Amino acid sequence: MVKCSFCDSKAILVRKYEGIALCQKHFLRSVEKKIRKTIRVNKLIKRGDVIALGLSGGKDSSLLCWFLSTIRKRYSINIVAITVDEGIGKYREKNIKCAKELAKKYGIEHHVFSFKEEVGLRLEEIMKNKAIIEQCMSACSVCSVLRRYILNKKARELGANKLAIAHNLDDESQSIFISYIRGDIPRALRLGPISPENDKSKFIRRIKPLLDIPEKETALFSMLKNFKLVSGECPNAKFSFRWKVRDIILGLEQTSPGTRYSIIKNFEKIRGVLIKAQKSKTKPLVCKMCGEPTSKEYCKYCQIIKLIGN
Ligand SMILES: [Zn+2]
Ligand SMILES: [Zn+2]
Repeated sequence: MVKCSFCDSKAILVRKYEGIALCQKHFLRSVEKKIRKTIRVNKLIKRGDVIALGLSGGKDSSLLCWFLSTIRKRYSINIVAITVDEGIGKYREKNIKCAKELAKKYGIEHHVFSFKEEVGLRLEEIMKNKAIIEQCMSACSVCSVLRRYILNKKARELGANKLAIAHNLDDESQSIFISYIRGDIPRALRLGPISPENDKSKFIRRIKPLLDIPEKETALFSMLKNFKLVSGECPNAKFSFRWKVRDIILGLEQTSPGTRYSIIKNFEKIRGVLIKAQKSKTKPLVCKMCGEPTSKEYCKYCQIIKLIGN
């Protein structure tokens, strides 16, 4: 039996990257402590913030929903949950049901916005569009562009000044990797625990309180806390570029524990330099078609809308 590094109880998890073993009690305590530290050190939340929470109904956003509800009074924050219904068969329907129940349980205002209403088509229908097929766009890349756009716009319209995203350590290290490969600097600038402040931009500041928690641990935490969850991944995930990057990073993590933390920590140094360089440049652009923030003439959302001809 492996014993907990902090008491005599049986360990339920060995953290190779920290060289410790944790029992259930100390594991739960440690995760909460890490989230609080991420929030404090990066100044993610201020008193009086109106926080929109991207609530998919999966393990990570359920954890974040619960956590934010526990600190609501202390920080006097308002929380409004937003679920985006992309239209991905049964997988999404079950998740939305979980999200609704969760928001109700914690007394959080909840809104659902669908691709069908916003874009005119479900994701499944968009992916059958000829122009989309010709451009070889994957379901995940189309979905993430549309989802990010809707989340930002709706959060702003609902009066939020921050948008909480339940990205865990694995998600974030993958995003950093992908932004390197694609050379997507505007996107890279908005990564990290909190996106830069810009009064002129219509981008709501994105905060990521779960940034320091590995995916395996958010899953374990959610299971131990009995969050009602739908098991399984999005059926499209396995075909995405992100999935391949995920495998590479997990492989590195196995032979060199702590790799994910290094990726995040060292990227912050680069991001600091990028933000400074960017500040001296021109003011943020707005999309010619919809008026939302963009780095090009037309935002990625409108580029897709133009492709599908809606
Ligand atoms: Zn213990
Ligand atoms: Zn646009």
